[in-house]
Order: sequence, then structure tokens, then C-alpha cells
Amino acid sequence: MDLELKEEHKLLSNMVRDFAEAEIAPIAAKIDEEEEFPVEIHKKLAELGLNAITIPEEYGGSGMDTVAFALAIMELARVSASIAVTQSVTNMVAEGIYRFGNEEQKRKYLPKIASGEYIAASFALTEPWAGSDAGSIRTTATKEGDYYVINGSKIFITSGAYAGVMMVAVVTDKTKGKHGISVLLVEKDTPGVIIGKEEKKMGQRGSNTVEIAFDNCKVPLENLLGNEGDGFKIMLADLDGGRIGIGALACGVMRACLEEMVKYSKGRVQFGQPIANFQAIQWMIADTATELEAAEMMVLKAAYLKDLFLQGKGGRFTKEASMAKLFATEAANRAAYRAVQVHGGYGYSREFPVERFYRDIRVTTIYEGTSEIQRIVIARHLM
Ligand SMILES: Cc1cc2nc3c(=O)[nH]c(=O)nc-3n(C[C@H](O)[C@H](O)[C@H](O)COP(=O)(O)OP(=O)(O)OC[C@H]3O[C@@H](n4cnc5c(N)ncnc54)[C@H](O)[C@@H]3O)c2cc1C
Repeated sequence: MDLELKEEHKLLSNMVRDFAEAEIAPIAAKIDEEEEFPVEIHKKLAELGLNAITIPEEYGGSGMDTVAFALAIMELARVSASIAVTQSVTNMVAEGIYRFGNEEQKRKYLPKIASGEYIAASFALTEPWAGSDAGSIRTTATKEGDYYVINGSKIFITSGAYAGVMMVAVVTDKTKGKHGISVLLVEKDTPGVIIGKEEKKMGQRGSNTVEIAFDNCKVPLENLLGNEGDGFKIMLADLDGGRIGIGALACGVMRACLEEMVKYSKGRVQFGQPIANFQAIQWMIADTATELEAAEMMVLKAAYLKDLFLQGKGGRFTKEASMAKLFATEAANRAAYRAVQVHGGYGYSREFPVERFYRDIRVTTIYEGTSEIQRIVIARHLM
């Protein structure tokens, strides 16, 4: 593994950072405050090639690797975790279609996601009774003639109200447990798709999270992704890549925390000197910088291993993706805690961005598999 980033990675990172600082930073607090999904920004991100980063150019994608994807998400999250999570999930769905779809599905959906015609895409697995235990979903899809008819409901679906297409996990054979789960591609505006209430969230409030009900929703048989019964495996395999995205998001927020801690501590004077002079403050900054370095290395290593796997040159990267997500998200929560602490009372005020970082980072140890579930995945691979 080469620890030096390639030139193309540095260029991409710089391009995303410039865009994020120029166009996202000025609205990051506003979209949080007003719980607004910034459609125009997502269109621009698609134009920059950030909806389908790892998808080959022949399908409209940017043809880059997972390391590039991780770096882009880090840069977006440094400014807005809301925007970063939306992009991460859209890329994850594009990749699910690319890896498990047939040629017709790839030609039909990937260019639309990549171009921004679909500004987002959704991954619909969670149900009211099936969170960590995703194998216990109850949404059904019954074959009727040339269609599957879907009935059931999903909750907490990122970008659900804005997604052009979603990967929906359904039960096609109730007698087979997890092996009776399949994935259907469901397009926006299909009759019977009912977008329900938007979650009022603690953080990442510029992202869209909704309930979705399926009421006799008819989807053509050709929208089956992969084979019937492979759905659970497909969703979990796609989540391995998604977890690299969430790890990267955590790194971005952690970097923002670090930068704010350094800046504030140099300017804030107490006892006649900048608080940066106090060892207690320095230790918080040093611990954050050290954990950030470790988290970035773990996320980029998992990304690198995923690229090797996809090229047929390496084994599965599930354990490393879980480790990266677990470590980066837990460390980022510690970083946000310290960032607020360094700001004292001002850290608790919405005038300073660390208050938003503190709320934004909380969910990262929960979605795409809680920290407890990551530990189960890691332990399973070790024993
Ligand atoms: C903002 C947001 C966006 C989301 N986006 C999506 C999305 O786009 N698509 C989607 O499908 N889902 C999405 N989710 C759902 C998310 O993936 C689930 O919330 C998550 O998987 C946890 O499930 P749960 O909330 O049902 O918690 P539960 O599974 O009920 O867990 C509750 C607690 O029990 C623990 N626990 C559960 N089982 C075990 C076990 N075996 N051992 C030890 N501890 C255990 C958990 O770790 C947790 O601490 C989103 C959630 C949020 C909050």
C-alpha cells in the first residue's frame, strides 16, 4: 500500500474543498437551522461528478476509485455532514446498481444518478421492527404477472423524498428467512410509493430522512437487482462500501472540530493568556489530531482494500470497513465533545459551528450499523 496520495486524488480533494468552502460553507448553518435539503447544491455536486464517483465513465460516472470517494466525502463533511451523508448514500446506491445490476439496469439508472437528473438515490432497508436485525424485514413483494407488488413500510430513509431511484429490500419468499429477501429498484413517482413524515432530527438536518410506505406498489419484474433471494447479501455487501463513506464523513467532521479548537483556543484569553497555553487544552487538541490521523488511515486503508477486492486482487474488506467506521465515528464523537469543551459556554451556543458538529456527529455511531453491530461483524471475522 502506497501511503502517498496519487496526483488525481490530491486534485479531487482540492477541487471538493474549494467547492465546499465557496458554495457550501456559507449555507451550512442555514440548512441545519431551517432543516432544508439544498437541491441546488446537490445538482452542482452531480455536475462535479460526485454522485457516481466510482462508476465507470461509460455509465456516466467519474471512473475514480474508492480512495477518491472517501477523500471527497471527507472534504464535504468538513463543511457539512448533511451534504456529505446525502452524497455518500447516493454513491452507495449507484455502486449497488453497478455491482449487482444487469447491463440494462446499469444503462437505465446510472447515467441518471451520475448526471444529477436523479439528484439523489436511496437505500431502503430499515423498518419499524427491523433495524440492527435487518434480516427480519416484513415488507413483501408478491409476483403478479409481469410485476412485483410491494406492500409494507420503511423508516429513516435518507433522501427518500428526493431519490430518483431506491434500492428496496423486500421479502419475496417468507419461508426462507434471510434467503427469501430480494432487492427491487423502485423509481420515484411509481404509484403506491407514499413518502411519509420527515424525521425531525437532532443533527444532519440538511439531509432528508423519511418514512416510506408501499401500498400495492407495482414494479416490473425486470427491476429485480441480482437474483431472487440474494437481497440480504446484496444490501450487506453494499453497506460495506457505505461504511467507508460514513467513516470518511466522521473524519471530515473531526477535522472541522480540530480546526475550530485550534482557532478558538488561540484567540480566547483567560487568566491573562490564550487558553491555547494551557496544557489541558493542548491535550484535547493533541488527542483529537492523533485520533484523526489514525481514523483517516483506517478509512483510506479500507477504501484501498475495497478497490483491490473489486479488481479481483484481494479478499473481502468487510472487517476493515467495519473497523474504520467504528473507530472513526467513535473518535469523531470524542472530538466533537472536546471541541465544545474547548469553546466553553460559547461551544453550547449556535453562534459557533462546534455546536452543530456535536449534533451532526452523534448519528454516525448509529446508522449504517451501530457501533455494537460493527463490533459483532469484526469479532465474527476474527473467530
Ligand atoms: C438519520 C438516520 C438516517 C438513516 N438512514 C437510513 C437509510 O437511508 N436507509 C436505511 O435502511 N436505514 C437508515 N437508517 C436506519 C439505521 O440504519 C438504523 O437506525 C440502525 O441500523 C439501528 O437500528 P435501530 O434504530 O432499529 O436500532 P436497534 O436495532 O433497535 O438498536 C437499539 C440498540 O440496541 C443495540 N443492539 C441491537 N442489536 C444488538 C445486538 N445483537 N448486540 C448488541 N447490541 C445490539 C444497538 O446497537 C442499539 O444500541 C437511518 C437512521 C438515522 C437515524
